[in-house]
Amino acid sequence: MPASCPVTLSPQQRERYHRHLSLPEVGEAGQLKLLSSSALVVGAGGLGSPIALYLAAAGVGKLGLVDMDTVELSNLQRQVLHSTESLGQAKVVSARRALGRLNPEVDVQTYAVQLDTGNVAEILGGYDVAVLAVDNFATRYLVNDAALALGAPVVHGGIYRFEGQVTVCLPDRGPCYRCHVPDPPPDALMPTSGPLGVLPGVIGCIQATETIKLLLGVGEPLVGRLLTYDALEGSFHTFRVRRDPGCPACGVRNNGQLGRRPVP
Ligand SMILES: [Zn+2]
Repeated sequence: MPASCPVTLSPQQRERYHRHLSLPEVGEAGQLKLLSSSALVVGAGGLGSPIALYLAAAGVGKLGLVDMDTVELSNLQRQVLHSTESLGQAKVVSARRALGRLNPEVDVQTYAVQLDTGNVAEILGGYDVAVLAVDNFATRYLVNDAALALGAPVVHGGIYRFEGQVTVCLPDRGPCYRCHVPDPPPDALMPTSGPLGVLPGVIGCIQATETIKLLLGVGEPLVGRLLTYDALEGSFHTFRVRRDPGCPACGVRNNGQLGRRPVP
């Protein structure tokens, strides 16, 4: 949580968040809730860019960014947190500067590390929600398992060429990521081309929306549902996903403890 949780909005905050205040579903109470909430964005690349920018713009009080890469020229086709002047810098440094320019009120914490079993629980434990913006399955499973143990929600997003998908995993409320994808796809099926540069913008914005809904406690989160987007078709579809009773992470045969599994 941020160091100071405001109990009322300053005149500047009233102006900055005026459009939120005019929504009954958000209002002053909701904006104060956002200001005192936190989100960990895992990945400061194509998906992490719109996620972090919109969460900062919305006034989420504390944002954590995990990424150990540096900004390369080929990133700039889609990673809009970064710019030409950021080339060669650590992505978390470049991102913190961009977010500070957008909303200096946000407490941005950076982690230029590879998440692993030794650090994931400590880092994730400092946040209300995790937003996954990575392209590797090892990190998805790692964060899934840690979030189950902590009881923390995770907003997943994925992109492939012209297609993307989003789902939300809430411990005890629906399937976990291992229920969705029990095994990682073989390397031969991993993308070797793309994505279309704007695609992570679409999918990341949906992830940011789901995150804000969770933090506000409004609407129906994408729990047990997989939202897919096909940019070439211009179509969205939603698929129901059920919890797998035999899931090694959250299943009922996991020592009889639904939704809880020690971090490996
Ligand atoms: Zn599961």
